[in-house]
Amino acid sequence: MARYTDSVCRMCRREGTKLFLKGEKCFSSKCAQQNRPTPPGQHGQARQRKASEYGLQLREKQKARRAYGLMEGQFKRTFVRATGMKGITGDNLLQLLELRLDNVVYRSGLAASRAQARQLVCHGLMTVNGKKVDIPSYTVKQGDVIGVKSTKKDIAIFKAAKEGSGRVVPKWLTTDLENLTATVAALPQRDDVDLTLQENMIVEFYSR
Ligand code: SF4
Repeated sequence: MARYTDSVCRMCRREGTKLFLKGEKCFSSKCAQQNRPTPPGQHGQARQRKASEYGLQLREKQKARRAYGLMEGQFKRTFVRATGMKGITGDNLLQLLELRLDNVVYRSGLAASRAQARQLVCHGLMTVNGKKVDIPSYTVKQGDVIGVKSTKKDIAIFKAAKEGSGRVVPKWLTTDLENLTATVAALPQRDDVDLTLQENMIVEFYSR
């Protein structure tokens, strides 16, 4: 499977905003986007040309895709799925992204970043309603309880999670960090998304 292998901080600098891809570092003074808020590359500091409508839509789509750690094909499939749902496509897209198992593991504080959450899921450490699920894109449902495999609760990542990440847990998740569980108490709404995104531009990008 294709995978991004370059520095992830470059992605934040490219999108001109913090995408929170590196766990604790993102909240420290070492954040590259904070320290060098110019696009990466030789001409990054050169005066930028005014972006076209297409360019703006593309950047918005890339920002969302990169923040949630998806490759283009996965992101487009999620968008197509959102178009087949009732309601506003942009809201549906964000809801589907938020309901991904790797995102839930991250947002509940069980992992330091979405990348780490994805690794925990892929390695079979996470459970949904007591059963192992090793598919990061698995869509959780309201009422699902996400937990950690009983034999893996003592690893350093989960010891750190028990101490609390300091991040705000969204109101649609109820966590019990002592027991390393998170319950999907409700479906995420638009204002539960912790990223600055203009989802209407993503819809326009794919509707060209
Ligand atoms: Fe790097 Fe995190 Fe800062 Fe982005 S927010 S530049 S991933 S440290």
